Amino acid sequence: MLEIGLTGGIGSGKSTVALLLVQQGAELVDADALVHELQAPGAPVFLAMVERWGPRIVGGDGTLDRGAVADIVFSDSDELRALNGIVHPAVSAEMTRRREALAATDATVILEIPLLVESGHEGLHGVVVVDVDPEVAVERLMAGRGFEEQDAHDRIGSQASRGERLALADVVIDNNGSLSDLSDEVDRCWTWIESLPRPPLDREIRPIGGRAGRG
Ligand code: ADP
Repeated sequence: MLEIGLTGGIGSGKSTVALLLVQQGAELVDADALVHELQAPGAPVFLAMVERWGPRIVGGDGTLDRGAVADIVFSDSDELRALNGIVHPAVSAEMTRRREALAATDATVILEIPLLVESGHEGLHGVVVVDVDPEVAVERLMAGRGFEEQDAHDRIGSQASRGERLALADVVIDNNGSLSDLSDEVDRCWTWIESLPRPPLDREIRPIGGRAGRG
């Protein structure tokens, strides 16, 4: 198994790139998707969160009320630390389980990790960063994902900076152009991935980054 980290700011095009890499033959482990699975009603992270904050974080339909959680942690660093302390170790453990299931194969695994700057990237064989001008990201978040302009700016502003992400990159995918340009960039990236030496199959699988459990 060859493991490549994929990151980028919100609206940079990570998910779009991940799909294109899957079309090339990669396996995808998506940290955000794991968070959603673990926060489904009755799942372990959901239960731990309800134990801490009570029924006020559960909506009328029984699913997690993400807005209510955001309100609790938004301006209270202790509550945010508590949330991270519940979510990050669980996601890290689940991610390790998924990786272990692929470990003895010769799969190319893309680990889509939005917070790779924060979690650390130790243990990966390479890091791909999707880069876009923040103004372009704002426009795309408004056009494609229904964001309000201020909300898009706020979300981008709360994340690691463009420079911090680029400093991790082995390959930068420029997504300022069209979807067809992006597809060319992903082809170039895949050629680089395929040129990498394949690691031994009996390698020990350790959690990525080693900082994922920090509060
Ligand atoms: P991320 O996963 O990094 O948050 P997405 O892949 O969801 O970003 O992309 C954000 C939005 O921009 C989506 O609606 C996506 O369809 C759109 N998008 C991504 N790349 C391009 C592009 N090159 N041209 C136009 N729209 C794009």
